[in-house]
Amino acid sequence: MTETDLLVIGAGPAGCSAAIYAVRAGVKTIIAGGAMPGGQLLQTNDLENYAGFVNPVGGFELMDNMHKQCKRLGVQITSDEIVKIEGEKPPFILTASSGEQYRAFAVIIAAGATARWLGVKGEEKLKGRGVSACATCDGFFFKGKEVIVVGGGNTAFEDALFLAQFCPKVTLVHRREGFRADAVTVEKAKNTPNISMLLNCVVEEVLGDESVKGALVRNVQTKDCVQVPCSGIFVAVGAVPQTAWLKDSPVNREPSGLIKVDARQSTNIEGIFAAGDCTEEQFRQAIVAAGTGARAGISAAAFVNLHR
Ligand SMILES: Cc1cc2nc3c(=O)[nH]c(=O)nc-3n(C[C@H](O)[C@H](O)[C@H](O)COP(=O)(O)OP(=O)(O)OC[C@H]3O[C@@H](n4cnc5c(N)ncnc54)[C@H](O)[C@@H]3O)c2cc1C
Repeated sequence: MTETDLLVIGAGPAGCSAAIYAVRAGVKTIIAGGAMPGGQLLQTNDLENYAGFVNPVGGFELMDNMHKQCKRLGVQITSDEIVKIEGEKPPFILTASSGEQYRAFAVIIAAGATARWLGVKGEEKLKGRGVSACATCDGFFFKGKEVIVVGGGNTAFEDALFLAQFCPKVTLVHRREGFRADAVTVEKAKNTPNISMLLNCVVEEVLGDESVKGALVRNVQTKDCVQVPCSGIFVAVGAVPQTAWLKDSPVNREPSGLIKVDARQSTNIEGIFAAGDCTEEQFRQAIVAAGTGARAGISAAAFVNLHR
């Protein structure tokens, strides 16, 4: 059993940021980084919106730097995947899939989220070559090009409005007639001349060999199919927080799997904090994850230093 003051679960921007703040407050910190230490940013080539870099920074490079910074400060990073957390007050016992166990006085869950995809033909092949789950991240690369947004919630509508600022034509494809998005945002989109909508429609296939050339869109009522030419397809059908492993734990989650936190990033269990995309409904961005991670790190360090 490995003993530590603080165990951080996740080695993405939230987990690294949390660990940096905690270790600098004198708290012994270990990160269990799971199967993908580095997190979602490993899937992107260039970030242009993370402050502090004049030129775009690679996702791998940014995360490699964060890991090196953590290690220089004395944080230990393992690749353990945590599968169980026990205890309703410190110390908490955490078990990894390898069988390794940790006893930690405080815990920060920064396990991230994964985008929900459509699962249609051509999507996997063209991810990063026109298929994206993040308009805020990748939209700018489609300036002057026609794009499709898939979804009917606030994210889909906000993505469509964002893209309509620099794309000549944005087509929103939604499988129903009604929307989950709020009425004001829907109205705004309806009043934007370069946004059109295909309702009761689903994307059946992403078309293109080297890059996206269009989508095969099927009307679910008439069964008719049309080809919609476009260079980009933005999938905005939600994200899945990586928190299923918490199902038998006392940590409160929303039905969607998001972990509920207060302004200190504390969960309902004293000593267990959470940060980043696994707590975030709307602003799933690296800099936001790093920010909430910093908040969790400061809160967890104060907790350890006060109660240990
Ligand atoms: C393709 C793509 C492009 C993007 N581009 C941008 C961009 O340009 N700019 C931007 O700001 N944001 C971008 N994002 C969003 C950004 O990547 C996320 O908002 C950010 O990575 C969230 O950080 P996080 O630390 O909360 O979670 P993640 O980065 O998801 O990290 C989660 C970590 O938790 C670990 N983990 C999960 N479960 C366990 C477990 N049970 N035990 C141990 N470890 C576990 C994972 O292995 C991983 O290390 C992009 C996302 C994607 C998918």
